[in-house]
Amino acid sequence: MTRPWLGVLVATALAFAVAAAAQDYDLLIRNGRVVDGTGAPWRRADVAVRGDTIVAVAPRIPGSARRAVDAGGRVVAPGFIDLHTHARRGIFEVPSAENYVRQGVTTLVEGPDGSSALPLGPFLDKVEALGPGVNFASLVGHGSIREAVLGRANRAPAPAELARMQQLVRQAMREGAFGLSTGLFYVPGSFARTEEVIALARVAGELGGIHASHMRDEAALVLESVKETIAIGEEGHLPTQITHHKMIGRATWGRSAESLRLVQEARERGVDVTIDQYPYTASSTALAAALLPAWALEGGAEPLRLRLADPAERGRILEVVEDKIRNERGGGDPRNIAIAACGFDRTLEGRTLADILQARGLPPTVENAAVLALEVVERGGVSAIFHAISEEDVERILGSPYTMVASDGEIPGFGQGAPHPRSYGTFARVLAVYVREKKLLTLEEAIRKMTSLPAARLGLGDRGVVRPGAKADLVVLDPGTIRDRATFDKPHQYAEGVSLVVVNGEVVLDAERMTGARPGRVLRGPAFVRSKAP
Ligand SMILES: [Zn+2]
Repeated sequence: MTRPWLGVLVATALAFAVAAAAQDYDLLIRNGRVVDGTGAPWRRADVAVRGDTIVAVAPRIPGSARRAVDAGGRVVAPGFIDLHTHARRGIFEVPSAENYVRQGVTTLVEGPDGSSALPLGPFLDKVEALGPGVNFASLVGHGSIREAVLGRANRAPAPAELARMQQLVRQAMREGAFGLSTGLFYVPGSFARTEEVIALARVAGELGGIHASHMRDEAALVLESVKETIAIGEEGHLPTQITHHKMIGRATWGRSAESLRLVQEARERGVDVTIDQYPYTASSTALAAALLPAWALEGGAEPLRLRLADPAERGRILEVVEDKIRNERGGGDPRNIAIAACGFDRTLEGRTLADILQARGLPPTVENAAVLALEVVERGGVSAIFHAISEEDVERILGSPYTMVASDGEIPGFGQGAPHPRSYGTFARVLAVYVREKKLLTLEEAIRKMTSLPAARLGLGDRGVVRPGAKADLVVLDPGTIRDRATFDKPHQYAEGVSLVVVNGEVVLDAERMTGARPGRVLRGPAFVRSKAP
């Protein structure tokens, strides 16, 4: 059989090879202030890239390049690594992940809060086949595994069930997970005792994974929850991470001093515990999860409907909702709770519970807000934003050397709903507000929290730093102008000040324009075994 096209292909490939060889580099970024991600002071240097790899970092790199960029004294940094994202759906809707790229993010980690795709392998293959604009990695969710084995039952697993759950952790690790996430605040993770989590964490740890937890409680019992997260690392023999660390509710404000002390003490006795955080004084999650008691959510939607239909049970649930609006997530005032996304009535998006009550001619009291909250849960549920965190705690936690920056955001459809601005602003906001304005962090330290620190957490030896041999995930930004523009009132606004973003050697943002390139890769964890082709 003759293959004339083969000759054409070979000739074309040769022509390209000759053209490439005529240049010393594929990409050369000149005149940058290189902040290398390690926390070291910036230095003036050029950065040269060949293929997907940084090949030289030096004060003046001679030679030619297929593409040369003059950084003009701006900062050249490693691409940012976001350890906590909810990008599972959005990556397919907006594969460029523009909201993240415009902040300088080049790697997203999915599967947080105990919730991941399961089985993980086929999902990661799908992302790979899609070809995302940024790199994509995942943890495996404890809650997802628990639900697969026990449903939404509030009980401990029998030994055979626990063994099955351990097997699912092992399988996910082999399929590329970077570790185990827990969401002990959420149903069904909330039904798990610490021992169960430790038993699963051990499996992840043996395979080189980490544990990251949305803790059981971030309000009255936050310190107990920090201790539990530390215990999971200590007894599970693996690195453990307090994710989106915060103090919810006025009664808890200030306790970050104590939580950071617990982290420090644990580290001194050899427990590898670290923290991540988003730089805002409001959180966002499903309204039902935030305001209803976990027992009311046991079993899922239908049992909840039955409980709410029973006047006595409804009364007990209402009491808890009132208490949580008054003392926890609600920050004591229905004005502090805003609807982010509402499937059954889009006109509610962006409005606070107080707004909605007033529009109905009702006084915006905590009692009325609790009744309204149950109504929206019954009508299909909403996600909401809760203003109940103090700036003092945000700053104290961000200032810890063990804290990295992570958004807890998503890839929103541009203009859809009223999502938390963290999806658009997290990384730019840290550089604008906490480096430039408040001078809480040096530029180098802030960038370390976005690059080498999360890379080390994941065991990514070849990302998160600007040095020869590392993968060419790079960001050029202006530290004098970078800023987040997304606000709670107008969240759909991209960050400004990032001019160039490079993923695996390819430019995805060029002179502040998206190029359309999608060079992102699926990154697989330490125990990944590529399955044999069928
Ligand atoms: Zn969470």
